[in-house]
Amino acid sequence: MSNPSLLILPGDGIGPEVMAEVQKVIDWIGANTDTQFDVTYDLVGGAAYDKHGVALADETMERAQAVDAVLLGAVGGPKYDNLDFAVKPERGLLRLRKEMDLFSNLRPAQCFDALADFSSLKKDIVAGLDIMIVRELTSGSYFGEPRGIFQDGNERVGINTHRYTESEIARAARSAFELARRRSNKVCSMEKANVMEAGILWRDVVNEVHQAEYADVELSHMYADNGAMQLVRAPKQFDVILTDNLFGDILSDCAAMLTGSLGMLPSASLGAPMDNGRPKALYEPVHGSAPDIAGQGKANPSACILSFAMALRYSFDMGDAATKVEQAVEQVLADGVRTADLLQAEGQKPVSTSEMGDAIVAALN
Ligand code: NAD
Repeated sequence: MSNPSLLILPGDGIGPEVMAEVQKVIDWIGANTDTQFDVTYDLVGGAAYDKHGVALADETMERAQAVDAVLLGAVGGPKYDNLDFAVKPERGLLRLRKEMDLFSNLRPAQCFDALADFSSLKKDIVAGLDIMIVRELTSGSYFGEPRGIFQDGNERVGINTHRYTESEIARAARSAFELARRRSNKVCSMEKANVMEAGILWRDVVNEVHQAEYADVELSHMYADNGAMQLVRAPKQFDVILTDNLFGDILSDCAAMLTGSLGMLPSASLGAPMDNGRPKALYEPVHGSAPDIAGQGKANPSACILSFAMALRYSFDMGDAATKVEQAVEQVLADGVRTADLLQAEGQKPVSTSEMGDAIVAALN
């Protein structure tokens, strides 16, 4: 069997800095397990614009379609802020998501014990928290037609359309149920079926998929506004939360911040299974290119390393290795090793990006 393939797109700002630390973990996996990855690198975002005049070259898109998984750092930066919308760095990321048809966005909100004090909530509410938000990513209010700003008599009217087909809801639901089976087997689906027809259909289809294919998974439903309240009241009641594009955008940011720093948050965007059974997949940290600290060795590489751990689990069925990487990150934090974003006390000395990566690799050993 050929080696699993990874396309790495470090991107801009701190992207290349944090990705260099991921490469150390990939090397460790190669040296300590039976799996060797075929890794290739390419450009995305501003880095691609500088070379090709576009945020993602066609050849890069082709390579992304051909590999088992794509790992992306971050895109964007002040140098590119005034570019035409069509060539802005973010367009590279949007093109990847669209052409790979990555309809299921996974954002874990996991609170490492050593960072429980970072949350804006009380420690006992978040300590040990481990939930996963599955957000539908390719339809709903951000894509529905008609959309636009139109003249209506004497005034302008802004229109967006909240549109979902049964098949779009069903595939997102399957993604959440599959995930739940690998976790605590519970899905809570969130919509606004009380006031939106699209919410009624969402609830119906989720129930149908559940009854037909996933009756072993515990399913509940919640209105999304109550969901937001419950997330900050008692987040540990949830395992997997399934929701649409618009509500998911808001709920996943809310859940993410329960756990503290942006430098710790990974994500995955998954599509349909390929011929080899693996899903189309893009893994990336939630944070951006952080121009304020780029080039200074201050960035926390954990989010990007934890994104690679998600790739191990969801693309390569290497759950044990993924857990080992997550535990190494947790160990390093518990030992008090901190990049600048995670400092708590006056006088504490931060480690650099590469020292943090080295500490995680040492903990793996
Ligand atoms: P950002 O996430 O880049 O930074 C927000 C703050 O968090 C900054 O103070 C930054 O220093 C800090 N931060 C972020 N990641 C960190 C890390 N790993 N370690 C330590 N500190 C970290 O968001 P922003 O400042 O709003 O955006 C900067 C640029 O990134 C913009 O061009 C934006 O468009 C782009 N962006 C890209 C993505 C992406 O590539 N997916 C996501 C968000 C923003």
